[in-house]
Amino acid sequence: MERTFVMVKPDGVKRGLIGEVIKRIEQKGLKIVAMKMMEVSKELAEKHYAEHKEKPFFQSLISYITSGPVVAMVVEGKEAVKVMRNLVGKTNPIEASPGTIRGDFAMDIGRNIVHASDSLESAEREISLFFNEEEILSYERADEKWIYEEA
Ligand code: UDP
Repeated sequence: MERTFVMVKPDGVKRGLIGEVIKRIEQKGLKIVAMKMMEVSKELAEKHYAEHKEKPFFQSLISYITSGPVVAMVVEGKEAVKVMRNLVGKTNPIEASPGTIRGDFAMDIGRNIVHASDSLESAEREISLFFNEEEILSYERADEKWIYEEA
């Protein structure tokens, strides 16, 4: 089982889409093992998006992500990184397929509702930026045996 980091960004929170994002994660069969609503400090935002430091959109990205509450999550499941990226859709919502979160709810690359880690290494790094080990919980979903053939 893999873990990935997911965040409903400030536009997702302010547009009332927290439930929509959580619903899609749960209905797919992924398990939410940590979750909190919080504000992202400038410092944390800059660490989280460090790979984009030199990009022209970096400053607007930092002000977007610090502009209001977010909902941060750790999501667990088989190939969770890939599965979550597929649920989220392409970075530019114009290109994102219908059926994905960005494809169904967004129009602008700078307002794309949700973040999901793009690799296992990013997932580990991002999870440790946002959560302590004690905040990540372990439990069984009642339907696990019907989601995975070998559960
Ligand atoms: N972003 C932007 N303009 C761009 C590219 C990216 O505002 O031209 C923002 C957008 O919010 C995106 C985030 O920067 O989600 C991180 O970019 P990345 O390429 O890592 O996309 P993601 O992994 O979020 O799909």
